[in-house]
Amino acid sequence: MGGKDYSRRKFINKCFSSGSVLLGSVLFLNCRGTNESSSGNESGHKKPSISDDPCNDLTSLSDGELKKRQSLGYVKQSTVPDNSCGNCALYIPAKSEKKCGGCILFKGPVYIEGHCVQWAAVTA
Ligand code: SF4
Repeated sequence: MGGKDYSRRKFINKCFSSGSVLLGSVLFLNCRGTNESSSGNESGHKKPSISDDPCNDLTSLSDGELKKRQSLGYVKQSTVPDNSCGNCALYIPAKSEKKCGGCILFKGPVYIEGHCVQWAAVTA
């Protein structure tokens, strides 16, 4: 009888501890999600809002894609004389209905006047 009580007690304790862990996990994940969304607005990685300029619309890009763009040192306006996306071998020219082109190294719009550290001369 004592052994039976012991196993019942053990079972109830396990249920409570499992329930506590599960409840704690759910609360933790909920809080974590809230913090991520609010911290995204406060950090320097917030996505630019949609504007009239489609080449500046990065809202469809993931954080990883934005980081890749930044890690390559992409800028909208080249400061290197005679080197810009427009004369780079990796540039994807704008289609007729679009204003801005792209780059084969990362997703998203690219200004023809832009530049990054991977600029490569076009070879004939
Ligand atoms: S590699 Fe750099 S310079 Fe060349 S098109 Fe892409 S972003 Fe522009």
